[in-house]
Amino acid sequence: MTYIICEPCIGTMDRGCVDVCPVDCIYEGEDMLYIHPEECIDCGACEPECPVNAIYPEEDVPDEWKEFIKKNYEYFEGGVERQVARGKGG
Ligand code: SF4
Ligand code: SF4
Repeated sequence: MTYIICEPCIGTMDRGCVDVCPVDCIYEGEDMLYIHPEECIDCGACEPECPVNAIYPEEDVPDEWKEFIKKNYEYFEGGVERQVARGKGG
């Protein structure tokens, strides 16, 4: 299991979730952030920190955003160059 970031993050990207993740598994993509499905320990700390409610446990992702589950997993496939988003303004 993992947590998934959905559509509301696009254009928001305030990194509130990054600041509270104990294992630094949230990475910054071009237009939104992504959670590494294997590094996430399902602690749930990020979920209440998101000001736009973009984060859900994988099994609870709303139907209209199911595509973001695939998008999240695909981001980490094929050696995509990842930019770690650690802390605000970093
Ligand atoms: S659930 Fe916990 S480990 Fe997973 S991304 Fe959120 S804060 Fe990080
Ligand atoms: S807290 Fe929410 S909106 Fe902000 S970067 Fe994280 S997922 Fe995106």
